[in-house]
Amino acid sequence: MIEEVIVNTQQEELDPFKIAQRQLYNACKLIGLEQDVYQSLAEPEKFIEIKITMKMDDGSIKTFKGFRSQYNSARGPMKGGIRWHPEESESLVKALSAWMTWKCACVSIPLGGAKGGIICNPKELSENELQKLARNYIRKLSGDVGPNIDVPAPDVYTNPQIMAWMMDEYETIIGEHAPSVITGKPIELGGSEGRSVATAKGGTYCIREAAIDHDIDLKKSTVVIQGYGNAGSHVANILHNEYGCKIIGISDSKGAVYNTNGIEPYDALAYKKETSSVVGLQNTEPISNEKLLEMECDILIPAALENVIKKKNAKNIKAKIVAELANGPTTPDADDILYKNGVTIIPDFLCNAGGVTVSYFEMVQGYYLHFWSEKEVFESLDKIMSKAYRDTVNKAKEYNTNNRMGAYIIAIQRVVNAMKLRGWI
Ligand code: GLU
Repeated sequence: MIEEVIVNTQQEELDPFKIAQRQLYNACKLIGLEQDVYQSLAEPEKFIEIKITMKMDDGSIKTFKGFRSQYNSARGPMKGGIRWHPEESESLVKALSAWMTWKCACVSIPLGGAKGGIICNPKELSENELQKLARNYIRKLSGDVGPNIDVPAPDVYTNPQIMAWMMDEYETIIGEHAPSVITGKPIELGGSEGRSVATAKGGTYCIREAAIDHDIDLKKSTVVIQGYGNAGSHVANILHNEYGCKIIGISDSKGAVYNTNGIEPYDALAYKKETSSVVGLQNTEPISNEKLLEMECDILIPAALENVIKKKNAKNIKAKIVAELANGPTTPDADDILYKNGVTIIPDFLCNAGGVTVSYFEMVQGYYLHFWSEKEVFESLDKIMSKAYRDTVNKAKEYNTNNRMGAYIIAIQRVVNAMKLRGWI
C-alpha cells in the first residue's frame, strides 16, 4: 500500500509540493504502483540551495537565495526553467521540477525534469543588477548544469537576454561553446524560431483537438484568459487571429477586464506595454479576478501562477474546457469538483508543454548547428502535442478518470520504465 499524502490545514492544501505529491499519489494508486517505487518518484534526486551576495548599483550589499531542484534524470538530461519571483520557495521549485519530469515524459521528449529559481523582484532590479544576478547564479551552479546534465530555460520573469548572459558565463567557465547548456536564447545566439510563442502555440494545438472532441466551433467560441504575460497574450493572439475565437475577458496581476462583445488582443497588449496593465483598456469593464474565472465561456485559460482554481471557487467555474497554460493552477480538490461537474481539463504539463518541446528542438539544433524554419518548428510541435493530447484522453478513458490522471499515468509509466531499464528499481 502507498502511504497517502495527508493535508490538514489550508496552508498545506495549497502547498505546491504537497499538491504535486498528492497528484502523484492519486495516479500511482490508480495503476497500483508499489510503495517503494512511489517513494522513489516522490522527491527530487538532488536539491541545491545557493546564496548570491552582490553589490547593488547604489553600493549597498544584498544576498539573494536561489535554488535548483533536479527531480529525475532517468529519461535524459534534466530540463526546466528558472523563475525569478518574490514568492519563489523551496516547495514551489520542487513541485515545478516534478511537473517538468511528468511534462517531458508525457510528450515523450528524451529529457528529465528540473526547475530553478531566485527569490527576488526583477522589476526592482537594474539591467546591470539583473546581469550580475544571472551570471552569479550560473557560476554557483556551473558544475551541476550542462548540455548532458541539466539544461535551464526561461520561466516567470526571466527572458532570452537573461539566458544569453547565463550561456556566456557558462561558456566562459568551461572555455568552449556549448549553446545547448540553456534554451530560450535569443535567435542570434542559437535560439530556436518559434520558441517565444511555443508555450501558447502548443496549448492551442491541444485546444483545437479538445474543441473537436466537444463539438465546439472555435469560430463561435468565447475565451477567458487569466494572466496576460508571455503565454497569455500570445494565446489570445493565436486563438483570435488563427482560430477566430472571441476573447471576452483578460487579466494581469493588477486586475481584470471584460467585454462580452470581444477584446482585440493586439490592442490589449499595446495598452499593457504602455501602461503596464490591462486595467482601464478601452471598451472594457472592470471585473474582479475571482469573477473573471467564473465568467460564462467555452474555454478558460489560466496562464499565470498556481492555485487559482481551488475548493472554494471550483463549483462556480462555468467554462466547458479549462486549458492550463500555467503550471499548477488547479488544486486536487478542485480537480475532483470540476470532473464531477463535467468540466474538461487540459492539464498543465500537457497543455503548456509546447515551451519545453521547442526548447528540446533548440537543443537539437544547437548540437547540429543547423537551424529550422518557423514552419518546420510548428509542424513538428503540432505532431508531438496532438499525439500527446490523444494519448492522454485515451488513457483517461481507459482508467475512467480525468485527463490530469490520464497524463500522469502515461508519464509515470515512461519514467518508471526508464528507471527499470537502468536497473535503478
Ligand atoms: N519554463 C517552461 C515550462 O515550465 C519551459 C521550460 C523549458 O523550456 O525547459 O515548461
